[in-house]
Amino acid sequence: MKRTFSIGGVHPHDSKISRGCAIEPLPLPPTVYLSVAQHIGAPAKPVVAPGDKVKVGQVVAEPGGFVSAFIHSSVSGTVKSVAPRKDLAGNEVMTIEIAVEGDEWMEGIDTSDTILTEIPDDNKAIIEKIRLGGVVGLGGATFPTHVKLSPPPGSKCGMVIINACECEPYLTSDFRTLLEKGEQVVIGAAILRQVMGNVPCTIGIEENKPEAIEHIKAVIEKLSKISPKYQGISVLSLKKRYPQGGEKQLIDAVMHRQVGSGALPISVGAVVQNVATALAVYDAVLKNKPIVDNSVTVTGECFPRQANLLVRVGTPLRFILDYLGGLPENAVKVISGGPMMGRAVSNLDAATLKGTGALLMLTEAQTRRKPASNCIRCGKCADACPMGLEPFLLNRLAKVDDLEALEANAVQDCIECGCCLYSCPANIPLLDNIRLAKGAVLRAIRARATKK
Ligand code: SF4
Ligand code: SF4
Repeated sequence: MKRTFSIGGVHPHDSKISRGCAIEPLPLPPTVYLSVAQHIGAPAKPVVAPGDKVKVGQVVAEPGGFVSAFIHSSVSGTVKSVAPRKDLAGNEVMTIEIAVEGDEWMEGIDTSDTILTEIPDDNKAIIEKIRLGGVVGLGGATFPTHVKLSPPPGSKCGMVIINACECEPYLTSDFRTLLEKGEQVVIGAAILRQVMGNVPCTIGIEENKPEAIEHIKAVIEKLSKISPKYQGISVLSLKKRYPQGGEKQLIDAVMHRQVGSGALPISVGAVVQNVATALAVYDAVLKNKPIVDNSVTVTGECFPRQANLLVRVGTPLRFILDYLGGLPENAVKVISGGPMMGRAVSNLDAATLKGTGALLMLTEAQTRRKPASNCIRCGKCADACPMGLEPFLLNRLAKVDDLEALEANAVQDCIECGCCLYSCPANIPLLDNIRLAKGAVLRAIRARATKK
């Protein structure tokens, strides 16, 4: 029996129609827009002004706090403005606009295809390189990686898990990265396990990606012969089940340990990083390359051409879609991310962020919601919830705005996976209501903490 997580989960159709599309570089856009809020934590502080000339990899914004990250220019050109601009959701965010004039990189960044395998011994220097490279979790959370690699005193890491599940329908950029940059991902994983104290590292891949499983096993075998630093890394083939890529669900599947309510993975000895993050760690540590680009799946049945593109951070979405033939007339919704956890894009002039992993186009028929009826108390939403919550109850409490009861029933633990909505025969918009309630409860919790 293949391993998986123990509570809830659903089996949506794969729809990975771009899995055969190799990653191809997108041409440079005429302008990039670099948001200073591309990570969890304090926004970065711009250190460039209009008129400044910048090169690829040059710092354009510095961390605005301990939990924050550097932002680097993804192009060479001239800074046009540093001003608020609408992001994917339509919110105004401080943004650095750069007119693209070429592709001149900062000195010291190794842009060659040579794969470097010699991992330095100095872990402090490695973490500093990761910090300077602006590396953040690219699986969706965008938590600064150097902070995750520096657990609080008293915490001990027992295992690094590389999240290679890519369990959301349609998404294939991690899968392609495993196939095309598997060596760099494994080297990144070896760096991460060394930094955490030479602990074992497990790369969790779902069974629906057999080519990736075989390829990564072969890469590990090859690298293990080069250096003992590559021993201690293994691949675990996991049963296909959504949301296995959730941090807590993956830890449960791999280690059979449960991360408690409000607790961090390190509380059970785990550090989880995703495939693209492992690649970014390799780039930052061995190639001196900060995050200036990332792989983005562009997909949807209504879309003329499926693709996995290597996109410079800050590229306008409209430029990406135009390159592939333009937004189809019958596409009524563009989602940043997958259909389960992604967010609707309200502004195609917004630009990609470090964490943008997919653009999904959906038709009216694919987005049409059936009318909601009354709850029939079937309990399917609770059966599907991977966090052990009672979505029908949270929904009821959300409707009457009972924040105290919502918190007591752990609405703040909701990972917004959408399994409840997917399972509900009454078509109740559970996720929408619970997400709003969760936001209100988290604000109340933060306000309480500030008062203390
Ligand atoms: S969206 Fe939240 S409440 Fe619904 S199934 Fe996922 S974790 Fe549970
Ligand atoms: S799945 Fe829908 S109908 Fe069934 S208990 Fe949950 S909210 Fe009610």
